[in-house]
Amino acid sequence: MLEIKDLNVVYGSVPVLQNITFSLRPGELTALVGRNGSGKSTLLSCVNQRLKYTGTIELDGKELSLLPPRERAKRIAIAPQSLPWPHITAREVAAFGRNPYLDFTGRLTREDREKVEAALERCGVLRLGERYADTLSGGEKQRLALAMILAQEAEIMLLDEPTAHMDQASGTGFLKLLKQQQATLGRTCLVILHDLSQAVRYADNLMVLDGGKLVFSGTRQQCLQEGILEKTFHLRRFTVTDGEEARIFFSAD
Ligand code: ATP
Ligand code: MG
Repeated sequence: MLEIKDLNVVYGSVPVLQNITFSLRPGELTALVGRNGSGKSTLLSCVNQRLKYTGTIELDGKELSLLPPRERAKRIAIAPQSLPWPHITAREVAAFGRNPYLDFTGRLTREDREKVEAALERCGVLRLGERYADTLSGGEKQRLALAMILAQEAEIMLLDEPTAHMDQASGTGFLKLLKQQQATLGRTCLVILHDLSQAVRYADNLMVLDGGKLVFSGTRQQCLQEGILEKTFHLRRFTVTDGEEARIFFSAD
């Protein structure tokens, strides 16, 4: 289990994250939401050990920073908001996901290669395998980033706005794929999303950051009952009944 206690980050003298405490519920999908600049990506950078912070980040009771990077990468896969896309093929990028498992020769085994192909296929980018990654469209790059992360086979996956560049149908398909990973393989997912309707539709839990503070962390039901999203984002909420199902939408006007 990933547990964060009293996490603080300061840029210069500006506090960007203040007293963040939560634990990710194992095997569940949690959506992290918050306005631009509220500290979402900063939180992921801390877990990724890319930033100085105070407080503790523990994995199964052990301080994450003390875990060797290879071991950490076997347990936690992180897709940052933007990646420097290299001039190598999409297949080679997806194969990076296997890095934590390679021996000293650095060569992929047949099993590694099969896992990479399976991940490319599942993310709908197998046909792009030989294309240079830096020539892919924004949405194709995001699918490739997920393929890399799936190939990594970590039990915890953290994704920063993975659907931002996707068309609506692809974005929905992507979240369904994540749900499927979570349900069939018991993966724990934390996904940063701006689409609140999608967040309340697909996430089991929500975490809401506002000005660097965690103002809510709880179940989807609790979040909806307490009207947290409406209050935090100053939005109106609409419920549309579609057959048996109630669909929730938010609007700023
Ligand atoms: P978005 O939804 O736009 O991606 P976010 O919630 O991910 O926003 P962060 O990227 O975590 O926001 O940034 C949080 C705050 O920290 C912002 O005010 C940002 O300007 C500031 N910040 C981020 N990186 C730095 C830096 N290197 N130096 C100074 N301030 C920074
Ligand atoms: Mg961000």
